Amino acid sequence: MPSYGIDIWGNDNFIIDEGLVKIAYKSAPSLLEITHQVRERGIRGPLIVRFPHLIGKQIDQLYSNFSRAIRENSYTGAFHAVFPLKVNQFPNALNPIIQEGKSNRYGLEAGSKAELVLAMSLTPLGAPITVNGFKDTESITLGFMAAQMGHDITLTIEGLGELESIIEVSQGCSMPVPNIGIRIRLHSGGSGAWAKSGGINAKFGLTSTELLEAMELLHRYKLTDKFTMIHFHIGSQMEDIAPLKKALREAGNIYAELKMMGANELRAINIGGGLAIEYSQHTSKRLKNYTLVEFANDVVYLLREVMNAKGVEHPDIFTESGRFIVASHAVLITPVLELFSHDYQERSLRVKETNPPLIEELRYLNRKVTPKNCIEYMHDALDHMESLLTLFDLGYIDLQDRSNAEILVHNIIKKSLYLFEGRATPELERLQEKLQERYLVNSSFFQSMPDYWGLGQHFPVMPLDRLDQPAIRSASLWDITCDSDGEIAFDPDAPLYLHDVDLDKEEYFLAFFNVGAYQETLGMQHNLFTHPNECSVIIDEEGFQIKHLVESEPLLDILHSLGYDGDTILNQLKTNLANTSFITEKEKSDRLTQLELYLYQNGYLRTTM
Ligand SMILES: *Cc1c(COP(=O)(O)O)cnc(C)c1O
Repeated sequence: MPSYGIDIWGNDNFIIDEGLVKIAYKSAPSLLEITHQVRERGIRGPLIVRFPHLIGKQIDQLYSNFSRAIRENSYTGAFHAVFPLKVNQFPNALNPIIQEGKSNRYGLEAGSKAELVLAMSLTPLGAPITVNGFKDTESITLGFMAAQMGHDITLTIEGLGELESIIEVSQGCSMPVPNIGIRIRLHSGGSGAWAKSGGINAKFGLTSTELLEAMELLHRYKLTDKFTMIHFHIGSQMEDIAPLKKALREAGNIYAELKMMGANELRAINIGGGLAIEYSQHTSKRLKNYTLVEFANDVVYLLREVMNAKGVEHPDIFTESGRFIVASHAVLITPVLELFSHDYQERSLRVKETNPPLIEELRYLNRKVTPKNCIEYMHDALDHMESLLTLFDLGYIDLQDRSNAEILVHNIIKKSLYLFEGRATPELERLQEKLQERYLVNSSFFQSMPDYWGLGQHFPVMPLDRLDQPAIRSASLWDITCDSDGEIAFDPDAPLYLHDVDLDKEEYFLAFFNVGAYQETLGMQHNLFTHPNECSVIIDEEGFQIKHLVESEPLLDILHSLGYDGDTILNQLKTNLANTSFITEKEKSDRLTQLELYLYQNGYLRTTM
């Protein structure tokens, strides 16, 4: 039966049981029952389901692995971590992060003014705040305010200009100076599609010459004691561990050199983020080559070795992993609206009283196909098809016969694929690829999986039910935008097979996993499809509760956010309606009620159930 690689990407978060995908936690509800409960509340369209317990799990694993590595290596520095806000700023993701991180004093990282304001208001006192990214004097002043409010805040400078701004602000006010971190430009590059974050041509960081200048500046303005951290970040979704090891040795040596040059209060190395997530559904396409255990061991061991060699005290270690913390907490559930080869259903047959003999023969094969004879019957059917097409070209059969032939042959191949399931031959695989089905899903890939569109990033996908039935349709997925890029094409190297369903009679939902990192605020409103509906699910021993249900934006609000005035638009439509000729007053008022209903609903399709 299909398992959709759940043991590769699933991290033991989900299980397949009774043909359903369930959450492997406490009462283990199925995604299908959660979806039904949300839809009973009138919600239609795509749905992001958040599982706060999975955020808690990732935070705990991060801290416990580093404490273990620190203990095992007799490392004397401490471990701290912050969550980089750019990875997910939505309140229903962020609140559980703060809540679940409290006992470990998990902090926040900000990369812009808006994020800094969020960090200043949400970080519990005592948990660290780090600030990266380009800063002006206003952002720096905000950092001073945070320090004055009692926050443990570190402003990481990305260039000498920012250090000059800090000096300027410190001289112009009486507020306490926050801790200063320096981002170092490493010689060793990063890995993955995001490698621009590291290496000699990196966008950020000070070169060794600039570091020396920074030390002089700090000394001249008596701020050396505020310099507490060096920072690097070699890129996101670091799939290979090797570049990190190089970066750790290089950064470790820079740290030790700075200590020996008199950076007395320097006490931390911030290794940035980059811990990778497995997105692959196929063993041969596995992305990452290390585990969290190995990652933590390498960081602690390598820093210890460098420091011991130079006789420098072990620094505290900071991480800013974001993807690792939140990717798994969100699942996107989308209804399937349509299967495009619908017209090949058996019920579309229009058999005549008397049919050409080859059509009768096909009808016989279609009725009598069994596991034993299916390959033979399929070959016969393909042969008949050839003949029938020739007969059509020569004018001996009509369009109705041709349509019947196509439907029957299609069905015989489909039945053979079912009957032969698990014993695929190269020939069957080729036919299966040809019989591709297009599944139209009620969502926008531009909005909900922008990294698929921008970077070709794959997200694990599977149906919510029927996991005890063979899935034999090779599937390509289409979203509802009018853009041909809104398609996830069938890939023979990493095939996706789905079920044959009759959507007039039954529902079929697909779930996309690991969509909790980056996708939500990177998502764009192409065709004016907005952030999906969302809810959080709290699971206990007895069952589950749906919390924080937020519906996708209504149509008028979407237009408002582009700068249109909703009232003006509504009034214009009302005027148009009032001026419409040839309809009764009653009809006008009915039409208006209908129009208003539509305008206050979200913009996704409402065709299914
Ligand atoms: C983006 C970013 C991170 C987070 O990276 P992940 O790959 O999500 O762990 C951490 N630190 C900095 C400086 C970043 O820019």
